[in-house]
Amino acid sequence: MQIEQMNWFQAEEHLKHDDRVIMPLGSTEQHAYLSLCTDFILSSRLAQEAGDRVGVPVYPGLPFGMTSYFREFPGTVSLRPDTYGALITDILDSLYHSGFRRVFLINGHGGNSPVQTYIGNWLNQHEDARVVIHNWWASPAVMSRVRAISTNASHASWMENFPWTRIDGVQMPNEEKPGINPAKLGQLPASAVRAYIGDGNYGGEYQRSDAEMADIWAAGVEETCQLLDSVWMK
Ligand SMILES: [Zn+2]
Repeated sequence: MQIEQMNWFQAEEHLKHDDRVIMPLGSTEQHAYLSLCTDFILSSRLAQEAGDRVGVPVYPGLPFGMTSYFREFPGTVSLRPDTYGALITDILDSLYHSGFRRVFLINGHGGNSPVQTYIGNWLNQHEDARVVIHNWWASPAVMSRVRAISTNASHASWMENFPWTRIDGVQMPNEEKPGINPAKLGQLPASAVRAYIGDGNYGGEYQRSDAEMADIWAAGVEETCQLLDSVWMK
């Protein structure tokens, strides 16, 4: 169930019997030949499918995250950590005030992970609330299926290439790119990052079959649904 398909009366009614809520976290950043909005598209879609199945309201995804290292790739938008932390804190304040107590954040971008610090601070001031950050692509069910196909899979490679992240008419290179060295990447300013990673793929083939991707996706949705029911700590 999507918040955009609910009015406030329905939200109030829903909150009488369930205090869970889902919010997708995305990023708008280079994804090689895939959509700039890949992380937003994937977290939003996963949230909608899981939320519909479990009956938990899903908020519109946040299109922007923290991705300063991709700023030299045109189209990328990055928030400063304090901006992003303040944004998430204000959102959590509002959800809490509405009556939500269990917030399930479906994150599609590894660079957003430092927001955990802000969430930890917020939880200290809202001790009856629970917040989960679910890095869906790195979860056990998804990662085990990815690794079964290839261990060379990363940002903007085949593992993010779904029918809904491709750009119409764009042909994928038919090759396997060697994996980049994350330790080396971490030392570099954005201009050197662009020179180092070229088209933006961190390593791996550019595309696999739709059947393989559908299997990974189904596992991700299933796992998310299970977590929504079982992940919460007392
Ligand atoms: Zn991504």
